[in-house]
Amino acid sequence: MNTMTRTEPSFRESVDLMFNRAVALMDLAPGLEEKIRVCNATYTVRFGVRLRGGIQTFTGYRSVHSEHMEPVKGGIRYAMGVNQDEVEALAALMTYKCALVEAPFGGSKGGLRIDPLQYDEHELELITRRFAYELAKRDLIDPAQNVPAPDMGTGEREMAWIADQYARMNTTDINARACVTGKPLNAGGIAGRVEATGRGVQYALREFFRHEEDKAKAGLSGTLDGKRVIVQGLGNVGYHAAKFLQEEDGAIITGIIERDGALFNPKGIDVEAVRAWLVRHGGVAGFPDAAHTAEGGAVMEEDCDILIPAALEGVINLSNAERIKAPLIIEAANGPITAGADDVLRGRGTVIIPDMYANAGGVTVSYFEWVKNLSHIRFGRMQRRQEEARHELVVNELERISDALGKAWTLDPTFKEKYLRGAGELELVRSGLDDTMRSAYQSMREVWHGRDDVDDLRTAAYLVSIDKVASSYRAKGL
Ligand code: GLU
Repeated sequence: MNTMTRTEPSFRESVDLMFNRAVALMDLAPGLEEKIRVCNATYTVRFGVRLRGGIQTFTGYRSVHSEHMEPVKGGIRYAMGVNQDEVEALAALMTYKCALVEAPFGGSKGGLRIDPLQYDEHELELITRRFAYELAKRDLIDPAQNVPAPDMGTGEREMAWIADQYARMNTTDINARACVTGKPLNAGGIAGRVEATGRGVQYALREFFRHEEDKAKAGLSGTLDGKRVIVQGLGNVGYHAAKFLQEEDGAIITGIIERDGALFNPKGIDVEAVRAWLVRHGGVAGFPDAAHTAEGGAVMEEDCDILIPAALEGVINLSNAERIKAPLIIEAANGPITAGADDVLRGRGTVIIPDMYANAGGVTVSYFEWVKNLSHIRFGRMQRRQEEARHELVVNELERISDALGKAWTLDPTFKEKYLRGAGELELVRSGLDDTMRSAYQSMREVWHGRDDVDDLRTAAYLVSIDKVASSYRAKGL
């Protein structure tokens, strides 16, 4: 999958290069720049699990990039490509991401070198519990110090095992559930966490499309309605982003790239139908309503308005950057564009909505889940009915006036229904996420348009977030 050429730096070096480009425009205290850039610690563990009549050894990592705020936060990835360089790059991105969206966390990331498809559920539980035990033992899972979450290859199921493992090891910790986020609802999760990263991508694009000046930079105009979108990776993030853009914003999904090739149909592809096909057949090949090509990568180079890389890092690199035609790329994955490809694309005027902003919806809702766990109460539980009662007062009064006017004027029934409904947890989570995505975008665009020496959103994002991390360090007296 990873087609990076030899001339390109590693993922971590790529993140550092982008960091350096931004930091060169800042006036940080001597030495602070390096303190922020370097990864504080990476723990490597090799542990054995008795499986299928023998002992299998697994290698896992948990990297802590910056502890300017604690707990540190970031997902745990299950993939064969996991290595130290990758978790360190991802941990660094978590630091910048959390700072940018004002989630009060430092950055961390974990990974286990495993192909989860090779194991059944029971085996995965044994492996996950053992990995969690190794991490929790060293405070690398802890509600106050280090709070993992899902990432590639993991989801609610794994998070529930981790939470339970931690609780077994810390039987008197009343906040045990806050040791990990992305849990299922019945194990202390929050409504809207599964869709959160994809939803965040949608909110990010909506915000981008609210600004004429920004659209003009990409040579685009109008709304998301009718825009042609190609999505690379139909995992949790790509699927939700594509689905919401198609169903709620009228975008046309013209291309979907998966492991076994790509689907293309200029008239649009039904995302829900492809997802169902993928779940049933394990790939996209054979899907009836679009042309299939085995050489999936080539579809990223097709004409479109918006390209959404939503899978692995490094998929847009020096070998294909020149041929990418999309005028707007939104990085739903972490690090999908290498530093070299970023130079090429910027040079050509492509607008890139950077990963640390674009995919921050996941950690934003993780933050809400962590707060929910610490407060031991579901969002909306206290206010919802009271809000409904107050709205009912207004509606009753309006109806009384309407009657007094001989019904010359009446309330629209859909208004009444919508207005009367108090917000439950899901509505509150979406509202908090939308607000976060809008505010963070505005902080980036102020720098993007406000400084002559900044001509891209990534550099702007780095400037905003490094500035926040630097002020936390300053406040600590460093
Ligand atoms: N793994 C996700 C990310 O890369 C979510 C992290 C979290 O929720 O802590 O942002």
